[in-house]
Amino acid sequence: MAVPGPRAAEVGPLRGEQPKESPANEREGQLAARSGAGARPQAVRGGKTQQQRVDLPEESGLRVALGPVSWLWQGLSGWQQARVEEAAEAELGRLEGWVGQQEAAARRLAARLTARLAETGGEALVQRPYGWLIGRGLVQRQACADRRCDDGTRLDTGAACEGCANVLHVRRAARIQVTAEVDQELPGLDDAARRQVVEERLQAQTAADAARFVRRREEARVRDAEREAARAAAQQRAEAERQAAAAAATVRRALACEDCGQNAAGGLCETCGHRRETETLTARTVQLVAARTLDPSASTVDVAALDARVRTAIDRKVAAEWAEFLELSDPADLEDDQERADLAAALTAHSTVQPIADQAEASALAAFGRTDEAEAEADRAYRTEQGRRWFQHNPTGEAAVAAATKAATVARDRVAQHLLTVRLEQLREQAAAGHRAARAGAGSWTDRLPELAARALDRDTAGVVIA
Ligand SMILES: [Zn+2]
Ligand SMILES: [Zn+2]
Repeated sequence: MAVPGPRAAEVGPLRGEQPKESPANEREGQLAARSGAGARPQAVRGGKTQQQRVDLPEESGLRVALGPVSWLWQGLSGWQQARVEEAAEAELGRLEGWVGQQEAAARRLAARLTARLAETGGEALVQRPYGWLIGRGLVQRQACADRRCDDGTRLDTGAACEGCANVLHVRRAARIQVTAEVDQELPGLDDAARRQVVEERLQAQTAADAARFVRRREEARVRDAEREAARAAAQQRAEAERQAAAAAATVRRALACEDCGQNAAGGLCETCGHRRETETLTARTVQLVAARTLDPSASTVDVAALDARVRTAIDRKVAAEWAEFLELSDPADLEDDQERADLAAALTAHSTVQPIADQAEASALAAFGRTDEAEAEADRAYRTEQGRRWFQHNPTGEAAVAAATKAATVARDRVAQHLLTVRLEQLREQAAAGHRAARAGAGSWTDRLPELAARALDRDTAGVVIA
């Protein structure tokens, strides 16, 4: 030997050292050339292979994954590199499915390559790099019945495979058991004969185990297929449900309006929708005005009278808005189209009542905010804020007063909101009781109507509602 080739495990280049040869295209003689030039990588047993390589694929996952075999990669032809890249990408995709993360998948594949290299004895001892990478380095080796098993390591967790641990444990136990059996059945064998019988029986067992393993793997595959089928069925069911929902929506859209019978109105036409909203806001306005102006001792008759007054006032306001609207619009537009006229009227009513309801709520809250309870709570909050440790040096200063005022307002609003809610609830209960009484004795309710009608004519109260 002109240049004595050092054993792979003993010698390697320094960290970061570049191979002195450019990658040779001919595979033959390449390894020799490298070893001669001192560019031979260390075998794994001798330490980490840490050469910086610049021509690994650009993609960072592939760079990490193929890092341990960069020296082998360097020696591949362009076509081989493309195939190895494809294989590595496919394997990375599979691993990502197990570990759920691209970087972790890349590290897992790098670890596999490192482990396979350790078996072989290092990059330098790989005789056919391309075949080794494709057939051994990059492929999963399921060593037990667990599909996540890669040569005794779990693909998903990276921990030792329990299935494999079991296999080892079972093998050891089997040897002990078989030896005991042989000792009992065939006593007096010499050591060599005894060992041979034990080995034969263990081999028979191993063959049976292998057959069972194949069968189990097949069963697992069937189970997977069934699971996949179930998933597909569930997906199909979900799709069917979605279609049914869409169909139901179509049917709903086709429904006539509940209130006016207009076709294909989705159950409620726009005009009737506005009318309902208007009625809801009107009823709420009545309740808010009642809460503000009526004593808790007021009777249902008082409430009914107020209801009539508020509605009259609202109707008048709506009528005024409508007149204004008609003045501003082209009459020909509405005369020819009754539906459009109805919608315009409903919209006008809705947009008229909305601010009235808002104003009624604000007035009610303001009124409850002026009650003794609210005042007391506001005072308390003011003093508490003013007395805070950080204001103690200047309790009447600008900052202290601002903070105290804000606290008082918040407290007052909270109490007002609470009192209003309680009062509205009272009114609701009273109204419900009134309805029950009305149903129980329709006569007595009818008797009151003239009184209600008389109160409704009291136009001066309109100002109560609309400021
Ligand atoms: Zn395993
Ligand atoms: Zn309608």
